[in-house]
Amino acid sequence: MQAGALWADVAVPAGAQGLAALAGSSHDVGVVGYSLGGGLSWLARKHGLATNSITAIELVTADGRLVRTDAEHEPDLFWALRGGGGNFGVVTELELELHPVTEVYAGMLVWPWERSAEVIDVWGTWTTTAPDEITTSMRILQVPPLPDIPEPLRGRQIVVIDGAYLGDEAGGREVLEALRELGPEIDTFEMIPPAALLALHMDPPEPVPARGGHMMLRALTPEAIDAFVAAGGPGSGSNLLMLELRQLGGAVGRSGESHGALDRLDGDFALFGVGMVMGPGAAEAIGRTLDAVMTAMAPWDAGSAYLNFAEEPIDTSVAYSGEAYERLQAVKARYDAVDVFRANHPIAPATSGS
Ligand SMILES: Cc1cc2nc3c(=O)[nH]c(=O)nc-3n(C[C@H](O)[C@H](O)[C@H](O)COP(=O)(O)OP(=O)(O)OC[C@H]3O[C@@H](n4cnc5c(N)ncnc54)[C@H](O)[C@@H]3O)c2cc1C
Repeated sequence: MQAGALWADVAVPAGAQGLAALAGSSHDVGVVGYSLGGGLSWLARKHGLATNSITAIELVTADGRLVRTDAEHEPDLFWALRGGGGNFGVVTELELELHPVTEVYAGMLVWPWERSAEVIDVWGTWTTTAPDEITTSMRILQVPPLPDIPEPLRGRQIVVIDGAYLGDEAGGREVLEALRELGPEIDTFEMIPPAALLALHMDPPEPVPARGGHMMLRALTPEAIDAFVAAGGPGSGSNLLMLELRQLGGAVGRSGESHGALDRLDGDFALFGVGMVMGPGAAEAIGRTLDAVMTAMAPWDAGSAYLNFAEEPIDTSVAYSGEAYERLQAVKARYDAVDVFRANHPIAPATSGS
C-alpha cells in the first residue's frame, strides 16, 4: 500500500479477499505511522506487532535516493524503520503480510463503572492464562452525551472489555466464560468479518481534539487495581473520556530473529488515558488528571514505553533494548547524519562514548 493510506483503505479490501490486516482500533489512523511505530492490533497477541509483519519498504532517504529495502536489500535500514518510526526517510510504500481470516469472535462486555474494581480484578487474573488467540482491552469510559452515540451507552460511566478471538464461536465462548460470569449488562460478542474490527473500539469517526498519556505496566496487583480505579473510576473526579489498559503478552512480548528495531513490547499492559479538549483550559485540566494517574500508577511502571501511545516527548531510548537503541543511533548516523528527518519520537544522536 502507498503512504497516506488509512487503515480503512487497507483492512476493508483485504477483508473482501478473506484476509486480515494487523490494523489498529481506528479506521482513520495512518497505516505508515502506525506500522513504523509498532502497531498493536486486535490480533496482536497471536501475530505480534504490525511492524514485524512488514515485508518491504520503499522510501526516499536523506540523500535523495528512492530505495526499496527488505531483509535482503539495505537490511540495517529495513531493521531500523520497523519500530524506529519516521527517523530515516519519507516512506512512499509499505508491503505488509496479511493473514487468512474470514471471521473472528469479537465484541464488547459492559458493566456500570461502580463495578470497575471487581471487573478489572477478574480480567487481570484472566489475562495471565488467556490464550494468544485472544487480544483484549479494558477501559473505564465516561461516554459523552453526544447524539451519535448509541442510546445504551450515551452519557454513561461504564467499564468495558472488548476484544477479538481468532477462532470459532464455541472456542471464543469457552475463553470468555470467566468474564461472562461477571454478568455484563451488554454483551455484543459474535462472529464478525475482520474489517468490522475497525468499529469495535468505538473510536471517533473523525479526528477530535484530545490529550493523552501513557505508561507501560507490569502485572496488575490488587493494590495496582485499587490505585487505577481511585485515579479514574467512581469518586475520582476524573475528566478523562477513557482510561484504558491494553492486554499485552503473547506474540507481542516475544522476540523474533526476523524482527525490526521494536522486537517486542516489554510490559504486561499498556495504559492509555485520554480526555477531549473541548474548550479553553481543558488541555491543562486533562494534563493534571493524567499526571495524577501516572503518579498513582508509578509503583507498577514497567519502565519501558510504547511510542505510538506516547503523545508527549519522552526519552525514546526506554522503548527499545539498549542494544537496539545503539543500533538505531548508528543507522541514523549512517543514513541521516544531519537530521533531515525529525520524527515525532526522535532517535537521539549518539554521544561520544555511547
Ligand atoms: C483514534 C486512535 C486510535 C489508535 N489506535 C491505535 C491502536 O489500536 N494501536 C496502536 O498501536 N496505535 C493506535 N493509535 C496510535 C497510532 O498508532 C499513532 O498515533 C500513530 O503515530 C499514527 O500514525 P499516523 O500516520 O496516523 O499519524 P502521523 O501523525 O501522520 O504520523 C506519526 C509519525 O509517523 C511517522 N510517519 C508517518 N507517515 C510517514 C511516512 N510516510 N514516512 C515516514 N514517516 C512517517 C512520522 O514520524 C510521524 O510523525 C491510535 C491513535 C488514534 C488517534
